[in-house]
Amino acid sequence: MINKIKDFLGVDIKNDKYALVDDKVFGKVAKQKAPTSWVRSTCGYCGVGCGLYIGVKDGKPTYTKGDPAHPVNKGTLCPKGLSEHEMVQSENRYTKPMLRKNGQLLESTWDEVFKTTSDKFKDIQKNHGNGAVAVVSTGQLLTEEFYTLGKFVQMGLKTNNYDGNTTLCMASAVMGYKQTFGSDGPVGCYEDFSYADTIMLIGANIADNHPILKLHIAKNKKITGKKPKIIVIDPRFSKTAKMADMFVPIKPRSDLALMNGLCHIILEQGWENEKFINERTTGYKEFRKHIMANYSPAEVAITTGIDVKDLYELARVYAKSSAAMSAWTMGVNQSSLGTDTVSAICNLALITGNLGRKGATALSITGQCNAMGTRETGFTSSIPGYRNFASSYDREEYATIANVPVEDVPTARGYSYPQIIDAIETGEIKALWLVATNPLVSFPDQKKLRRALNKLDLLVVQDAFKSETAFKADVVFSASTWSEKEGTYTNSERRCNRARKAVEPLGETKSDFDIVLEFSKYFEGVNESLFPKWEKPIDAFNEWKKLSEGRLCDYSGMTYELIEELGGVQWPCNEANPNGTPRLYSEDMPCRTEDGKAKLLSVDWLPMSEPQNSSFPLILNTGRTVEQWHTRTKTKTISILNDLAPEAWIEINPEDAKKLEVKSGDRLDISSIRGKIKDIIVRESQNVREGNIFVPFHYNEQLINTITKAEFDPKSFEPNYKQCAVQLHSIKVPNGITFKEEEIAGALEHIVIKNEQSYNTTKQASYTK
Ligand code: SF4
Repeated sequence: MINKIKDFLGVDIKNDKYALVDDKVFGKVAKQKAPTSWVRSTCGYCGVGCGLYIGVKDGKPTYTKGDPAHPVNKGTLCPKGLSEHEMVQSENRYTKPMLRKNGQLLESTWDEVFKTTSDKFKDIQKNHGNGAVAVVSTGQLLTEEFYTLGKFVQMGLKTNNYDGNTTLCMASAVMGYKQTFGSDGPVGCYEDFSYADTIMLIGANIADNHPILKLHIAKNKKITGKKPKIIVIDPRFSKTAKMADMFVPIKPRSDLALMNGLCHIILEQGWENEKFINERTTGYKEFRKHIMANYSPAEVAITTGIDVKDLYELARVYAKSSAAMSAWTMGVNQSSLGTDTVSAICNLALITGNLGRKGATALSITGQCNAMGTRETGFTSSIPGYRNFASSYDREEYATIANVPVEDVPTARGYSYPQIIDAIETGEIKALWLVATNPLVSFPDQKKLRRALNKLDLLVVQDAFKSETAFKADVVFSASTWSEKEGTYTNSERRCNRARKAVEPLGETKSDFDIVLEFSKYFEGVNESLFPKWEKPIDAFNEWKKLSEGRLCDYSGMTYELIEELGGVQWPCNEANPNGTPRLYSEDMPCRTEDGKAKLLSVDWLPMSEPQNSSFPLILNTGRTVEQWHTRTKTKTISILNDLAPEAWIEINPEDAKKLEVKSGDRLDISSIRGKIKDIIVRESQNVREGNIFVPFHYNEQLINTITKAEFDPKSFEPNYKQCAVQLHSIKVPNGITFKEEEIAGALEHIVIKNEQSYNTTKQASYTK
């Protein structure tokens, strides 16, 4: 690795190898903005975790460049990564802490905001109990910050009503992995994309959301000598579907039924891997009985809208591969069946023996840059190190290593994010502290959310950016951001990467680590007992390493130096695996279940809770676009990104556009039973099927979460963002698309199947060639 960097840079790197590199190294940047130094770091947007260099001039980041030696991205970056430096000095940043006085949010001092907030927290907790203060964090802090924040919230504030916004995107993957393998933890790695015979992407539009992963697919042919078969399963013909050999246009939310149907065919045909099932799994007998009784190909064809012959072909391709990989993102997770769908994907991998080998895996791709960091250390749904609140052994172990009283370690998880909102509405929770999250754009059913937030006695927002939620806050802890602070991010393949500080924090902002440490001093004895002599993120990292030793997410063998030396280290990393571990549950690595075997689970598909009806005859799907990030706090001031996607749009099938007498460029209103959004531009597209529309969720100006439904997975609490019933209204057809009650089910069924057949014909043809 070092030699590769030396070759690329043309310089000899000795001590503190990657911190600062003279600018003549890269040289050809426009003179005016030409950085005078370069700092090696990691992208702070998505969970791919690309390595990069931050170019610095006059104390400001002026350039971002991919790190050619980094194993994740090999020098490439997507548009967001390439322009990341622009968000640091953007006008959308707070530069000072803010406090609301006489109704106005005004600049303040750190002492005033910390004193006001701590006094109010203490008062609320004295009168209403510790749980009356709730905290919701994010997937975007550094691991060291997550650990510090979680320790303070659970052991200092002593409230377990603490969750992350990761519940809105990753919680189903966490719970699915837990129920199948006995622990959270993505089982595969990016290298698997380069070794798999078959790559099955389920509800994963990587071309928009994780574009650099395509590099690893592109390497496959070079490595294996033949092109892998790419299967894309999605109700929408996304950008990713364009690279598919087989596009499988399932009906919305039928993915679980499809997985079970493929298992049925594989078992029926005798294509299963008997040896693997016998040696590495439990529950096969019940599982087989369940699948064979309930998921016949004929029934699954009706549920999914995929022809029986195509189901057989899909099952054959997957089962006959010497190494098959499935990977998924929000299309699977953001469902009220998300957890069980994850287990259904794992079932398919298990019965065919696709686990723990090169190219043979079931990989959940994370959304935010450090969703993994909070999963491992965050102290929200588990005690750090994937420990169980309910286990006295785990609580004792945590208390001993962290040197805290065991009676202070919570014995149960508190409220999840949606439950916190409910408890605010009922008056049980009085104060909410939000960290780097913006629910006033991202949370479903905004009317309900706003009703709840209006009841709070205190809303504290800790954010680097002027988010919509921060505008409503009583207090803003103005945080520094990427490039202004240091620590580590862990990506989707469990790779812990170093993120270095390149510039000083803007104005009077502080790192999230410093905010928590300093805020804790306003609570008697807390700082001294929880953070004795802590000064820098490395202090949190060192405690976390000790806590992780012997756990699945073992960081004990890592040092910041090793992480940089290797271009990131994949946990577990310990004496046995000093350079990390690419994939979990290989032959010699038992699962974290009691018997060390993976569980084959009988899980069931259920229809949508809000299907089309005569008033709302269309299904709305929401998602992302490559140019924007989440609620646009980081991207809306970056013109190179924002100008390409400045507003939301409705992707609508041309047949539906005809019914509404609209064409691309016209504007429509959208309504659901929960509200209406006006004036959204139309994009006619064959990418969505008739009876369905797609709208990106990033935009406050056309707030699609006004009309999405507050329905959650009962195991993971993740929202069902991907399907709700809506209507469109045009000037010429104000009442929208109409159906008679008795016609609706059959009519939509017919339209959907017709459309799917046309997709199938085209794509199948290219596959069978
Ligand atoms: Fe950053 Fe993700 Fe783009 Fe890589 S793919 S540059 S990690 S946003």
